[in-house]
Amino acid sequence: ATMPPLLCAIANAGRHGVLVKSAVVMERLGQVDAVALDKTGTLTEGTPRVTDVRPLPGSGLDEGELLVLAAAAEHPSEHPLARAVADAARERGLALPVAEDFTSTPGVGVTATVDGRVVAVGAPARLLVAATDTGSAPAAVLAAGLEDGGRTAVVVSVDGMPAGVLGIADRLRPDAVAAVAALTSLTRAAPVLLTGDNQRAAARFAAEAGIEDVRAGLLPQHKVCAVRELEAAGRKVLLVGDGVNDAPALAAAHTGVAMGRAGSDLALETADAVIVRDELATVPAVISLSRRARRLVV
Ligand code: ADP
Ligand code: MG
Repeated sequence: ATMPPLLCAIANAGRHGVLVKSAVVMERLGQVDAVALDKTGTLTEGTPRVTDVRPLPGSGLDEGELLVLAAAAEHPSEHPLARAVADAARERGLALPVAEDFTSTPGVGVTATVDGRVVAVGAPARLLVAATDTGSAPAAVLAAGLEDGGRTAVVVSVDGMPAGVLGIADRLRPDAVAAVAALTSLTRAAPVLLTGDNQRAAARFAAEAGIEDVRAGLLPQHKVCAVRELEAAGRKVLLVGDGVNDAPALAAAHTGVAMGRAGSDLALETADAVIVRDELATVPAVISLSRRARRLVV
């Protein structure tokens, strides 16, 4: 028997490094006319590095102590920022105490008890309740300075008080510009960037990649809203993401695609297709494959 076109397309997608989970998905990939991209780990490489360790003067902590508390709290997390913090502590040869009562909130950060102290690490916008508060203002100023430089800033608080800020830098994927250009021409619209990170860092990466529409500071349910909004306007949205925070939006989108290498298990399970070769340019490639196969089917 000759293989049906959609099955051939799935085999071809596999050769391009994309695992498409069914013939239905293979067909749907060719229908999309809008693309939404996550930032950390999708538009960027997702292997960020800690560039700045800034304890607050009132915290009584030095750089090493701040990093130890943050890294111990982050140790159980699979988030790319958590790995960056843990790596920074390891590179400095710091020994990490074991964290207890670990919790993580997608799009926000983590908390854990370290040496009897409650440590929280996460987004300034979520951890610093009121930037005018005397405890929060110095941390907010530090974070804003780092974000102006294109960094992701995370706040470290100890027993509810801001204790310091870490600056974390990521890089645009080498094929991001080409992938965005190809997606723009295939869907006749530039992709939208959806991120839980700050507006300043997001806008910088977006501009470098050729994206104008940036929605920053989004919690997982806000990413779902952004997808629904596009679909309510009649678009069939392809969402590409990697994190636990992307899973609800991957499920809500017409087609959800997960980055495989550093993607969370939840994203990989929820997505309709998984990018196994770690390249964003595989996405326009499979859209083209689907369109070609559909021309053969109908
Ligand atoms: P993105 O949508 O760009 O992939 P996330 O939604 O995963 O980003 O994270 C959004 C923001 O939440 C991060 O920029 C960071 O400030 C905070 N955050 C999330 N998880 C963590 C974590 N494990 N450690 C520190 N900060 C975190
Ligand atoms: Mg991500």
